[in-house]
Amino acid sequence: MTAPTRTNSGGSSASRNGQRGGRGSGQRGGQGSGQGSGQGQRGAQGPDQGSDQRIAPHDVLPGAMPGPLGPPPRLSRGTLRIVALGGLAEVGRNMAVLEIDGKLLVIDCGVLFPEDNQPGVDLILPDFSHIADRLDDVVAVVLTHGHEDHIGAVPFLLRLRPDIPLVGSTLTLAFIEAKLKEHRIQPYTLAVKEGQVEQLGPFECEFVAVNHSIPDALAVAVRTSAGTVLHTGDFKMDQLPLDGRITDLRAFARLGEAGVDLFMVDSTNAEVPGFTTSEREITPVLDRVFGSAQRRLIVASFASHVHRVQQVLDTAHQHGRKVAFVGRSMVRNMGVAADLGYLQVPKGVLIDLKQVDDLPDSQVVLMCTGSQGEPMAALSRMANGDHRVQVGAGDTVVLASSLIPGNENAVYRVINGLMRLGADVVHSGNARVHVSGHASAGELLYCYNIVKPKNVMPVHGEVRHLHANADLAVRTGVPRDRVVLADCGTVIDLREGRARVTGAVKCGYVYVDGSSVGSITEADLKDRLVLGDEGFISVFVVVDSSTGKVVAGPEVHARGVAEDTSTLQSIAPKIVDALSQAVGQGGGQGAKVDVHQLQQVVRRVVGRWAGTSLRRRPMIIPVVVEA
Ligand SMILES: [Zn+2]
Ligand SMILES: [Zn+2]
Repeated sequence: MTAPTRTNSGGSSASRNGQRGGRGSGQRGGQGSGQGSGQGQRGAQGPDQGSDQRIAPHDVLPGAMPGPLGPPPRLSRGTLRIVALGGLAEVGRNMAVLEIDGKLLVIDCGVLFPEDNQPGVDLILPDFSHIADRLDDVVAVVLTHGHEDHIGAVPFLLRLRPDIPLVGSTLTLAFIEAKLKEHRIQPYTLAVKEGQVEQLGPFECEFVAVNHSIPDALAVAVRTSAGTVLHTGDFKMDQLPLDGRITDLRAFARLGEAGVDLFMVDSTNAEVPGFTTSEREITPVLDRVFGSAQRRLIVASFASHVHRVQQVLDTAHQHGRKVAFVGRSMVRNMGVAADLGYLQVPKGVLIDLKQVDDLPDSQVVLMCTGSQGEPMAALSRMANGDHRVQVGAGDTVVLASSLIPGNENAVYRVINGLMRLGADVVHSGNARVHVSGHASAGELLYCYNIVKPKNVMPVHGEVRHLHANADLAVRTGVPRDRVVLADCGTVIDLREGRARVTGAVKCGYVYVDGSSVGSITEADLKDRLVLGDEGFISVFVVVDSSTGKVVAGPEVHARGVAEDTSTLQSIAPKIVDALSQAVGQGGGQGAKVDVHQLQQVVRRVVGRWAGTSLRRRPMIIPVVVEA
């Protein structure tokens, strides 16, 4: 039995790994995109986007507080407040903020990847506005593991305050440090191990080993004067993991014995019955695929899935093949993992991409990113014939990863593209080349029975995942009114062993687009969608400022509207009529022409015409100039 090692340190013990980092471009990440209430609806989204429906207020706590939640009460001393700024009702941008006695502890700070209805968006960040003017009160950011949906937004948070200490395992910190280097930020870090206890301000954090699809993942137990919170991070319970590091159920039991007041539990696989298969089960499948492949093998997975890459390296070695890493993040992360001993590279198996052409195709494995169809990743570019690796007939492509909800179209586009080029494609739909990184319902039931929590808060998942997880908790005997189904921004206060929803704070989507952070709004995205779906019509017209008579134009132009010029010009007389009528109504000759009003008139006329004669609703851009 390993007793927890206590170290006498606070945030101050965080080693300063370098100089204070630069402030980046100095842009504020915390500019939300403007939902007033905490029940932020995704504005630019149609009602058919089932997976993105937010939790309705009546679901937050059965029987309590119908209608939208108002701002929370002032936080009294000795009460612990929990607010998720991302990661609820969505898979990604995980971030939870714990607050007690004026101090804040952040657990994870990840990104969410955009979907088809968010054109041009690179990343979506948690909404930092809840803590933006209180960053000096943040004692630390605890990072449970090195996945993008848990660490990806750290650079944006550190731009606001570069010296917030980052606390996590060695591999997690190595991944985030490599990433921060690209942002030219050198963070304060505190490396922790399972079993270790750290006092971070009023939060006593104990770290617990958990098994996940990345090595060195941790759960964290946070003890405060208001009670103990156990946050699982992402986890599963593979009993035979490659590295032998299993989820520490003995620690879960010990913490449960001492009393877990709020159990925050990964919900990703709560809908999946039974148990998640062991990573080792992939070995024979990979072996078979490698054994029958005639020419090159191209394997795609996440750039952080060290154990999956390990299996590919080992299998390649057994089949006399050499492996080249393709893609910046794959090269970077696997370099880090190998340096730290998390990845064992069999001697001579790794080669540089440049050496690939010197080898016969039957001796080559390319290990790349892009298993989710990310357009800029290596695999998508290969499928488009837009990469230095030209995929051809006889090549075998293995997508050794899951299909994250929302990425289906992109992934199938890539698979179709690769098949069109003549490749055989092996994916989780036709072979067991992937196992999940998350605990299924059976494992979650075990956890509830072992921990016996007083209150439960399902985290990390779409609404359906959170609900499924809540049901599991209830089935093990947790009273339904002790299971908190929250949305991003929902405020939960823990006091006297009872977790209650007490309000909501603003929590919108913060979009990163190129160099802009938080400036793209829902309205901008709506415009982009209209432009993409319907095209636009512009009208340019010059009016006499005293008479309102049209002296030049109207010139009508269109893009993405499949009509010829003569059809478009047929609207011109209607515009002229409407303008002169509008000026007549506005006081006639001598009255000042209001350009803005006239533009509205043009917009209405053209809009009506497009609606009735074209059956379309393009974006209309009227420009009225006074002569
Ligand atoms: Zn994860
Ligand atoms: Zn995750």
